[in-house]
Amino acid sequence: YSAKHKDIGYLFYDPKTDPHTQERLQLNSDLRHALERDELVLYYQPQINIRTGKIIGVEALIRWQHPELGLLLPDQFIPFAERSGLIHPLTDWVIVTALRQCKKWQFAGHDLRIAINVSARSFQDRKLVARLEELLSAGETCLPAGHIEIEITENILMSDIEHGAIVLQQLRELGISVAIDDFGTGYSSLAYLKKLPIHSMKVDKSFVMNMAEDESDTAIVLSTIDLAHNLGFSIVAEGVENKGTLDILNKLGCDYAQGFHISHPLSVDMLEKLLDQSES
Ligand code: C2E
Ligand code: MG
Ligand code: MG
Ligand code: MG
Repeated sequence: YSAKHKDIGYLFYDPKTDPHTQERLQLNSDLRHALERDELVLYYQPQINIRTGKIIGVEALIRWQHPELGLLLPDQFIPFAERSGLIHPLTDWVIVTALRQCKKWQFAGHDLRIAINVSARSFQDRKLVARLEELLSAGETCLPAGHIEIEITENILMSDIEHGAIVLQQLRELGISVAIDDFGTGYSSLAYLKKLPIHSMKVDKSFVMNMAEDESDTAIVLSTIDLAHNLGFSIVAEGVENKGTLDILNKLGCDYAQGFHISHPLSVDMLEKLLDQSES
């Protein structure tokens, strides 16, 4: 009986009149114009060295200032961009904007490293490395490559390990670091990880957020710290939401931390205020 109802429901379902589909189609076409209309913006979240407490770098996190819907988070539009091919101009905009900003901070005396997220299709883009090389060698994006870190997830890397290994090698030759993002949520092969020229691992926030109350999360984070160090990588904990967690991470020997307890992702102005405060 209920199955019959389900069938009827399915028969009458028309994606063109589904309000969610409508909204998605609209978002998709709006995103085409977002770049031209200058509606995309990068926020920057500080990363600290846990032992010194000093801000050593920032992660660039994209937002979309949508004219009607307000500030949209990446999970609300990056998947569209990936499916529509808009991810290529979007990634290019992110890289150019982040490098330019990092260079401005250098001039102002803030020696910060910048971490940039690269999605699956952008990492598979055969032109990515050449583009980075071009941007780093001249103009307002010209920076020492050691200031740049590219973040990719385990699954992006493992989905095409042969191409991934080549890209990692090329990035290393340029002097750009690579971090494995959201570590622990994907399907890394340890046999590959140990051979790849990776610089650091970011233990996923789902393990870090409740560490202070959850012993099994602490065990996972400790094992990941040891794994990273034994492979010669540094380790970043993301999702540090309270002081208790930061204290435990310090005891466990974690290198770097990022999270709401330290700072939310900030606009350029807000970040510069924070930098001025923490340096004075
Ligand atoms: P991610 O790279 O793992 O970035 C960390 C996410 O965790 C960010 O969400 C950040 O705001 C959030 N976060 C930071 N500290 C805390 C904390 O203490 N607690 C909690 N609960 N969350 C925290 P956001 O900005 O919404 O970004 C989500 C994801 O979107 C990112 O995950 C990244 O995968 C992707 N993304 C962001 N910017 C870009 C971009 O420029 N290009 C691409 N391709 N993807 C991006
Ligand atoms: Mg990231
Ligand atoms: Mg992450
Ligand atoms: Mg994530």
